[in-house]
Amino acid sequence: MGKILRVDLTNGKISEEFPDEETLKLYLGGSGIATKYMIDEIPKGIDPLGPENKLIFMTGPLTGTPSPSTGRYSVNAKSPLTGVWGEANSAGFWGRDLKRSGFDGIIFEGISPKPVYLVTEDGKAELRDASHLWGKNTSETTRIIKEDLGNKFNIACIGIAGENLVKYAAVMNDCDKPNYGRAAGRCGMGTVMGSKKLKAIAVKGNAKIEVANPEEYKIEAKQRYDWVNQSLLKMTLEVFGTATMVDLVNIKGGLPTNNWQTGVFPAADKINGTAINETILTGRKPCFACPIACGRLAEIKEGKYKSTGEGPEYETLGAFGTMCGVDNLEAITMAHFLCNEYGLDVISAGNTIGFAMECYEKGILTKEDTGGLEFNFGNTDLIVDLVSIISKREGIGDLLAEGTRNMAHKLGKDSIRFAMQVKGLELPAYDSRAAKITGLAYATANRGGCHITAYIEGPAFLAMPFMIVENATVGDSLTENPEDTKVVKDFEDAFGLFDAIGGCKFMGMVLSSEDWASLLSKLLGYEITKEDFAKIGERLYNLARIYNVREGITRADDTLPPRLLEDPLPEGPAKGMTVNLDPLLDAYYDYRGWDKETGKPTKEKLKELGLDWTIKEIY
Ligand code: SF4
Repeated sequence: MGKILRVDLTNGKISEEFPDEETLKLYLGGSGIATKYMIDEIPKGIDPLGPENKLIFMTGPLTGTPSPSTGRYSVNAKSPLTGVWGEANSAGFWGRDLKRSGFDGIIFEGISPKPVYLVTEDGKAELRDASHLWGKNTSETTRIIKEDLGNKFNIACIGIAGENLVKYAAVMNDCDKPNYGRAAGRCGMGTVMGSKKLKAIAVKGNAKIEVANPEEYKIEAKQRYDWVNQSLLKMTLEVFGTATMVDLVNIKGGLPTNNWQTGVFPAADKINGTAINETILTGRKPCFACPIACGRLAEIKEGKYKSTGEGPEYETLGAFGTMCGVDNLEAITMAHFLCNEYGLDVISAGNTIGFAMECYEKGILTKEDTGGLEFNFGNTDLIVDLVSIISKREGIGDLLAEGTRNMAHKLGKDSIRFAMQVKGLELPAYDSRAAKITGLAYATANRGGCHITAYIEGPAFLAMPFMIVENATVGDSLTENPEDTKVVKDFEDAFGLFDAIGGCKFMGMVLSSEDWASLLSKLLGYEITKEDFAKIGERLYNLARIYNVREGITRADDTLPPRLLEDPLPEGPAKGMTVNLDPLLDAYYDYRGWDKETGKPTKEKLKELGLDWTIKEIY
């Protein structure tokens, strides 16, 4: 659309700006261009919850066009959970609708004196009072706004977790029914939204997305859509959703159980894809332009959790299930539904509860601290109750709302050893001791402990070929292979591009960089080769690194929780394994062109990537 909205929440001023062509060519869109704004506009060292932080919603050039699975948008800000580069990404339909309302993105700055929400429609925008929405959860917020503005509006909003500044609050979208929604979950972007007293963004419009070569683009997009539609990926994800990973990771001995004390979960068959299909599944839900429909619709038919909603995902089954020692599928599903309602990141929430359970087991947290709650592994009711307790910061929930790293610093007693986070971001449900190379990906991910920055879990756990990077195979998963670090680098660069173009990362399994470069060329009207595509990916990865280096990140922060480095897995196929990270980091820094002592991109590398202007930021 060529147009970005800037909203100063302090004084209510709204303006439009038009990024120049050179900037768009260098950073494409989405999280790429948002990171450029972050470096340009967010001063070093600011309070993430203060007025100087900016909250940037950004679509990519492909968002809302017919290429497969292109409904995505990114949200960027300095993270209140990690204190470094924060980014979250979501799909559904909201990204498409933001664009159709006439804008590629929105930059929020300042803090509103009272709760507000933004409405964008057909190229116009206005702030409205949201006092009546404050204190409401996501589906209720969505319902009330739609009643006021009309059903065709699409809403992104926060629940009360964001209002209460829970450090890992999510931005939710497409919450059209109770317990529904898609989440921009990671890094506390909903927390930043809450700090700005911004409750929601309602978008609607019919703006046409310009395509440089419309006929050629249509034909090519349709062909790629067909390829995805006939792929093995679709067959697996449509049938089982992301839950298909439960057994695949468990048989490798890498399914984090009881806060990562082991990697084998004995009751995996109670919570796997088959169990979901046979008990609670009622339907499958796609995002915009996606033939896959990996989203699950579920119904808990009876009992105290009787309810319907959207979920669970693999990460819910890991975070609220195996990490907490819970094998009750209905309770895990209910916890997911409630995270949708309160607006909580499922991964950080479940992982934090698992950490608290181990603290309780070790006597670091007592029944007195928890207000009488029994934090035993396997406590089914507790995982459900805690979603609300954390979101409201009630009692012990106030401590859990801070995330594992902050909790460990407060609790002391060496609990940081088993706080399962990197750079403050809680880890997803893949134990690196059972697939060593994933440890490097966690350690180097710009937003902290993240599995989809590099998405190396695919080749590492499944030995699956991914099309987005040529020759993307890794060696023996139980050996530290320095040459595998090149694949991590290439994956980080390639998968980061999906956050810039507005595509779903699952497409990296089916379509190659040549496919995406060609689609972009037809859309934008200038040639982008697969080499250009890879170079932009590398530029964007380094750009986020620069933000982090400026915030004080060094090689010492590119590390893993001591448990993964020092405590051998006690059982299963990966028994006896830890991760020896240093040789992997050395080789990775060489491939990256980063200084091995400091972890800074070298000046030569920055010049090569057209990032000369950033040298003064970190040297
Ligand atoms: S693969 Fe799943 S998450 Fe990705 S766009 Fe399709 S339905 Fe959405």
